[in-house]
Amino acid sequence: MTHTECLIIGSGPAGYTAAIYAARANHNPILIEGPQMGGQLMTTTVVENFPGYPDGVEPFQMMDDLRRQAERFGTQFVSGIVTKVDFMHGEHHIWVEDTDEYTADTVIIATGASARYLGIPSEDTYRGHGVSACATCDGFFYRKKTVAVVGGGDTACEEATYLAGLCEKVYLIVRKPFLRASEIMQQRVLNNPKIEVLFEHNTLTLTGEGKVEGADLIYRKGEPDETIRHIDINGFFLAIGHHPNTQLFRGQIELDEEGFIRTVSGTQATNLAGIFAAGDCADPHYRQAIVAAGSGCKAAIEADKYLKSK
Ligand code: NDP
Repeated sequence: MTHTECLIIGSGPAGYTAAIYAARANHNPILIEGPQMGGQLMTTTVVENFPGYPDGVEPFQMMDDLRRQAERFGTQFVSGIVTKVDFMHGEHHIWVEDTDEYTADTVIIATGASARYLGIPSEDTYRGHGVSACATCDGFFYRKKTVAVVGGGDTACEEATYLAGLCEKVYLIVRKPFLRASEIMQQRVLNNPKIEVLFEHNTLTLTGEGKVEGADLIYRKGEPDETIRHIDINGFFLAIGHHPNTQLFRGQIELDEEGFIRTVSGTQATNLAGIFAAGDCADPHYRQAIVAAGSGCKAAIEADKYLKSK
């Protein structure tokens, strides 16, 4: 069993920033890196809105910089997944891969969020065979082919624009009559001749022999002009938002109806003493790398205060 003053779960901007601050406060943090170093940001192409990078930055570069900065001040990294926690019996216990046990005076949860799926059965049938939630990871397989992206937010517009650079044609399937993405992202999509936006369409099912070859869509469901339409596609990309990675903490920490960790207003404190939350796992509103990093900083400062008060 290993004991630490500060254990951080998650290696996105929130986790690494928390580590930088906790390490500089001399708490020798241990950071459990989880399934993918760098978190969700690693699935984007280029980060253009993180202050300090006027020309944008590759996600790997940015996350590696954050990691090295945390390492420089003494953060210890553990590669693995946290499989169990016990915050209910005095000391905080954390298990990595079920076997390695840690105890910690403070824990900063920065487990982020994961992509949502529509929930139609054919999504599971073709997962890995034409269905993906990450254009940057899988777009390469669809060079010069036709794909569809579902969603009307910034992620969907970003993914559609990225795929348009690789593919012959991109459909953007939007359930409302408008995009909710930021103006600049909307303009990129609407001005791209390779992207066809299908407003007021929903996906009924995917079709194909062993892999995605098409999709049946419904236009204006329930309206007098409701129409079923088939499109031929080779890939189907989901970009309809994310759900927080907080299943592990259910029953121990207070979560909201959607599963986001509830924090005490204006702070990163959870309902449990010594447990803090930062980044997308506790943020149903902003979900920006810069906000996640800021909340990681706040969580580490609050953890430091908590440790000093003990
Ligand atoms: P959002 O929640 O903003 O958008 C989700 C989109 O998916 C909406 O258009 C929504 O439709 C649609 N949707 C949800 N469920 C379904 C469904 N069952 N069927 C069809 N469509 C569905 O998520 P994003 O991931 O796009 O963005 C999350 C946050 O991250 C936002 O704050 C965004 O600004 C930010 N972001 C910023 C980026 C940047 O600045 N470069 C890049 C990516 C994300 P509806 O509108 O009808 O609800």
